[in-house]
This record gives sequence, structure tokens and C-alpha cells, in this order.
Amino acid sequence: MEKDKLYQKCVSYLETLCKEILERSVGSEGNRRATSFFEKELSSLGWQTEMSELDVLDWEDGGATLQVADKSFNVLVSPYSLGCSVQAPLISVSCLEELDRQEITGNILLLSGDIAKEQLMPKNFVFYNPEEHQNIIALLEQKQPAAIISATGRNAALAGGVYPFPMIEDGDFDIPSVYTTEAEGKNLLSCIGKSAILESRSTRIPAKAYNVIARKGKDMAKRIVITAHIDAKKGTPGAIDNATGVATLLLLAELLKDYDGDRMLEIVAFNGEDYYAVPGQMDYIGKNQDHFESIVLNINIDGAGYKEGKTALSFFNVPEAMKAMCNDMLVKYDGITEGIQWPQGDHSIFIQHGCPAIAVSSQWFIDHIDSQEITHTPKDNIAIVDCRKVIEIAEALNWLLRK
Ligand SMILES: [Zn+2]
Repeated sequence: MEKDKLYQKCVSYLETLCKEILERSVGSEGNRRATSFFEKELSSLGWQTEMSELDVLDWEDGGATLQVADKSFNVLVSPYSLGCSVQAPLISVSCLEELDRQEITGNILLLSGDIAKEQLMPKNFVFYNPEEHQNIIALLEQKQPAAIISATGRNAALAGGVYPFPMIEDGDFDIPSVYTTEAEGKNLLSCIGKSAILESRSTRIPAKAYNVIARKGKDMAKRIVITAHIDAKKGTPGAIDNATGVATLLLLAELLKDYDGDRMLEIVAFNGEDYYAVPGQMDYIGKNQDHFESIVLNINIDGAGYKEGKTALSFFNVPEAMKAMCNDMLVKYDGITEGIQWPQGDHSIFIQHGCPAIAVSSQWFIDHIDSQEITHTPKDNIAIVDCRKVIEIAEALNWLLRK
């Protein structure tokens, strides 16, 4: 297909996802529109498609207010938190030992300083969950404060460009929580022991979401699985994270529509990479538990197509013969280079199950992982995408998959 036509298609896919649909967080109406759009496109290109239904939670943020000793403080509702209306003494904890030692039951608990330096991994998250996070969650659940206020700083590597970041983002954790900036946390520290009133209007809404799986080829015992997550962080357009990944899959599906090779190509729109419970990933793992040995390669696209710098491919346990072919591809497509390994993405699922994987992203984001302020913010919009890079990835993968 000519470049012009691919370019038009790419623009139209990105506009559909980031402008027309916009909200694509798991459980939202837009998320279901995005998966059904994806499924229709692939089946119209002759791919055998399947929708896998997921039970999820959507969330409505009605705002929160905090008053201590007649003063108001700015707080934001932690995503997926339960709401609350409580009046109780304000107390504070800044490290794990203090949390262990202090009497906090029934109080409104301020977490600031060292204990609030990282976003806690959700309690049921199985892939990466540091013991320290699990200990904090366990102590909080055991001691049952009436509500939690976390005061957080900047942490780009774990929270993208979001400041303040919610220390708790977990629909499985049932102590109501809000969060605020480090600076507001310092103001609150002067009110410890006083009576605080916290009202949080936050609602959990049971909803449905879907993974979309599309296949073409013959031999299920030799699968190449090409993945990109289709969800976006709530309230953000998610252009680089990860509408470009979805657009790449759609363009690739078109370039491969006459594919008649032996290996089974499986294109998967994962639902949940930017959602606390990663439901699509868990569903896929459950359904493939005894079949990972048939996956000869995973290619995961996340964070690709940024206007600055090259596309970076990171290789994980890729066998020599396949790596040699990839090296040829890197020579042939000069906007693509080899990048360092990074673990935060759906390729880790395949690596953990013993499959070779290639992660496709933007070199710029890998270089700026600790300092960038774009991911999970409104800055991640179509204006920062270079469609020519998205097309180059689709063309390069088409070339590779036909080898
Ligand atoms: Zn992502």
C-alpha cells in the first residue's frame, strides 16, 4: 500500500481513538467503543476475531474536601477509592516503623515523607510487588484508619508525569483515601492531633471490558503474538500511551491481510495495562496457562511514535537466528534502533512465561524515563506523535513476520 494511504489511515485511527472516543480507561463506555472498533477493523481485514469479556470497575470522581481546625486543604480523590464522610483526629506517619508502632485505628491518617515516596503496587498485582509495599498495605488493613491522606512528590518512573501522584490506586483496597501535594502535606503537619473532616464523593461502578484477539495463519503450535494495550489512563488522551500501539496493530493487520504463512499470527489488544487490576492481562494469562510454550515470540508495542528520536526495539531472550533477522531489519529501516531492556510493559508477561519478546517503544521515553512529564497527563496527545514513525514500525514488522 502506498505511503499516502497508510498515512491517512494512521491519522484517522489516532483521531478516532484520541479525539472521537477520547476516554478509554478500563470500564468506561469509550473503552468498549475502542475495543469494538478494533474488532470490526480486524474482522473486515479477514482476521478471525474473538472478544474476551472481563468484569471490571469503572470509577466516578465527585471530588473531595478536607477541613482541619476551620481551615480547608486541597485534596484529590485516589482513583478507584471508596468515598467517605468522616470526622476524626488527624495523625501522621512518615515511615513503616512508625506505621507499625502508632495507634491509628479510627483516625484520619496522613502519610508523608519516606513512606509516601512511591505509588503502592495494587494489593493483588502479581507481576511486580515489592515487599515494602505489601507490608504497608497489610499494616493499613490491619489497623484500619478511618481514611488516608497521602502527600506525594514527583516520581516519573513510577507515576509518569503526574504530580502529585496518588499513592494508592487500587479498587481492591477498601480504606477510603485521598492525596495531595508534598507542600500541602507540610501544611497539614502543623494540624496533627486536631479534628479533621473529610468528605470524599467517589463511586465504584461495576462494568464490562474486553480483550480483542485476532488470528491469521495455520499452526497454533507456533504462534507469534503481537500486542498493544488499548486502554488509557483515565482523563488522558493516551496518544503515545498507547493509541500509537493500537494504530500500529491496525496498520500491520492491513499489511498482513493476505498473510498465508504457517505460523499463527495473533494480534491482541490488551485491556488494562494502565489499570490497577490488569484484567485483560490476567485473563490472557489464565487462558494461555498451558499454551505459552507455543508462543515463539511476543512483540509488544507501547510508547511508540514520539516525534523526537528513533523507535527503539528492546530484545529479551530472542534466539540467535531470529535476532539476526531483526538486525537485518534494523539496517533496512533506519528510523529504528536497538534500545536497552525495560521491564514496565506487557512484554514482561511473556518473558516471565519463558517466551522471547521484543518491546517496541520510543528511544526518547526510555532515555527520559525518570524525568519525563508527559505519560498519564493531557500532554500525551496527538500533537506529539509522528505518524511516519508509526508507519515505519508497521512496515518493519510486516517485513519481519513474512520472513
Ligand atoms: Zn502504556
